[in-house]
Amino acid sequence: MKVIETISDMQTQSLEWRRQGFRIGVVPTMGALHDGHLSLLELANAKADKTILTIFVNPTQFAPGEDLDKYPRTFEQDKTLCEEYGADAVFFPSVEEMYIPNASTWVNEEVLSQGYCGADRPTHFRGVTTIVTKLYNAVLPDVAVFGEKDYQQLQVLKKMTADLNFPIEVVPGKIWREESGLAMSSRNRYLSESEKEAALAIYKSLHMAADEVTEGTDLIKVRQQIFARIVDAGGKIDYVETVDSETLEAVDTANGGIRCLIAAHFGPARLLDNMQLN
Ligand code: AMP
Repeated sequence: MKVIETISDMQTQSLEWRRQGFRIGVVPTMGALHDGHLSLLELANAKADKTILTIFVNPTQFAPGEDLDKYPRTFEQDKTLCEEYGADAVFFPSVEEMYIPNASTWVNEEVLSQGYCGADRPTHFRGVTTIVTKLYNAVLPDVAVFGEKDYQQLQVLKKMTADLNFPIEVVPGKIWREESGLAMSSRNRYLSESEKEAALAIYKSLHMAADEVTEGTDLIKVRQQIFARIVDAGGKIDYVETVDSETLEAVDTANGGIRCLIAAHFGPARLLDNMQLN
């Protein structure tokens, strides 16, 4: 497995693989890898001949005061896992490599990125769409795998990839969970055992909602129940929304595919989770 640190070396390697007729898959991550990330790598391995996992803690998707500085960085361990799970390369650029000083060009998706996490973190998705475009340009992939764990992000990136005519297939990977049901996240490392236990209210309330919702169910009541359960467990909620699973429009009565999206703080961590309700 190769570790590649510059854009030009990455492009040279990808162009070489392309010339040899290989299909290239990419799994963009911020590192601190867990089984969720590795499941995406396995998916990429199944979809492509050569897979590249990228590790880059992207400063432009963090707002001032967020956890950029303390975000876990575990490169040696990540490298071993990538090797074990059959990546052909890890792309591990520095911030200076990815961002030219005074860069003033951004990629913005302007509809799907607006509500939910986009409302709570106004510059977040601009950072995500810009870095994924840059990673596409470095890796030159045929396939890009993103997790449903970050459901709004997945929809924004699908739309961006189509809108900008990237010849790239976006493949979603399902949410990987701890045995308890807690969605795996690099940020779970910030939680104590008791905070993890409390945070399970997110999964349990989603599960309860999924059991309850059928065609025509009043989703306002469902959201209120979820809200109460998370607050009872000590969570501080950013949002609980029920949305059309394609357009992300907020929906109050179950009709067609409904996804419930949640962002809530437990202890020092802002946790995201979501579930298809029908
Ligand atoms: P991150 O390193 O958190 O930026 O995530 C990198 C990729 O892994 C994104 O596409 C995430 O949606 C995905 N991911 C994160 N957590 C999980 C999980 N528990 N299950 C599946 N995919 C995940």
